[in-house]
Amino acid sequence: MITRRDAAQRLDIPPEMAARHGLPPTLTEGQLREIEDDPPPWLVQSRANRTGKKPVWVELVCSVCGHAETTRPKKWWPRFTFISCDHHQPSDLPPPLRGNHREEILGIGNRFVGWVDTPLD
Ligand SMILES: [Zn+2]
Repeated sequence: MITRRDAAQRLDIPPEMAARHGLPPTLTEGQLREIEDDPPPWLVQSRANRTGKKPVWVELVCSVCGHAETTRPKKWWPRFTFISCDHHQPSDLPPPLRGNHREEILGIGNRFVGWVDTPLD
């Protein structure tokens, strides 16, 4: 069985949209493939409207251990230099370039910390 959230990821749409258009809480692989093969008008419309916009889903990948999580990007997120699991030590990451200031941003996805290096000038 595929959860609605996973189905939304596969279809590259927000989960709220999947719910609004009546996708059941769980789907079979066959049901999802039917939607992919013959997308309903709302899905075609949504994809057409999204050209060039921000991604609906992003994959967060830990720079230390490679753990990955697919999540919805938040508007407030800056551009991260690194992303790591929240249990790693800052020293597990490559050090910032000389003259760069590193900022830690907590609460990225379920268990990640974002790191942003910016030049001090
Ligand atoms: Zn990690």
